[in-house]
Amino acid sequence: MMTPARLPVIIRMLERKYGRPKWERRYEPVAELVFTILSQNTTDINAERALESLRKAYPVWEAVAAAPPGGIAAAIRGGGLADAKAGYIKESLKGILTEQGNLSFDFLREMSDAQAIDYLTKFKGVGIKTASCVLLFALGRPAMPVDTHVFRVARRLDFLGGGGRGAAHRILGAITPPEDVYSFHVNLVRHGRQVCKARTPLCDECVVEPLCPSSRSGVPCIRLKG
Ligand code: SF4
Repeated sequence: MMTPARLPVIIRMLERKYGRPKWERRYEPVAELVFTILSQNTTDINAERALESLRKAYPVWEAVAAAPPGGIAAAIRGGGLADAKAGYIKESLKGILTEQGNLSFDFLREMSDAQAIDYLTKFKGVGIKTASCVLLFALGRPAMPVDTHVFRVARRLDFLGGGGRGAAHRILGAITPPEDVYSFHVNLVRHGRQVCKARTPLCDECVVEPLCPSSRSGVPCIRLKG
């Protein structure tokens, strides 16, 4: 899939506004997986609290894999959907431990990005966004997680061609230069939170407005060739 000519220009425009974020590991891979499951349908702050509480109750991950789901659910209760998330966490950790013999996630380093995503998403409750978060945030690999902000802004910028969330991971991952995936992801989230808001996008304040076909400003979008 070709990179549209507008895309690198938009990445640079967003970096001028928000900066080019430097990649730093958020959590080690197993903690990133658990954190991302915990963050489903809740805020990052609630997920962080639930993760902390889980770590207090079970200081090593092997203990989480062996724990009764009810014990995990009790530890993460503050994060919402505790029973379902407890099952997802336990089954994915238990499955990886059984298959790989440890929870270091070193095996992912031997896999391509696509293989790693396929492997992780076979566990119930681990979707493509969660798998992409593990790759991007814990391993620094160019997998593009598509959350609600990334999806909305990318769709308004007309990079998704009418595809849904599942397709968005594949499309954005394919058209974004690997070295820009982290920056583009982080800045799309910032832009979605601050400017390209869900109900009322602030198009008059938007740095990429000249290149956005969905702008409400009434000024025609500049179409770049290529
Ligand atoms: S011009 Fe408007 S719709 Fe387009 S990215 Fe900016 S805020 Fe969003």
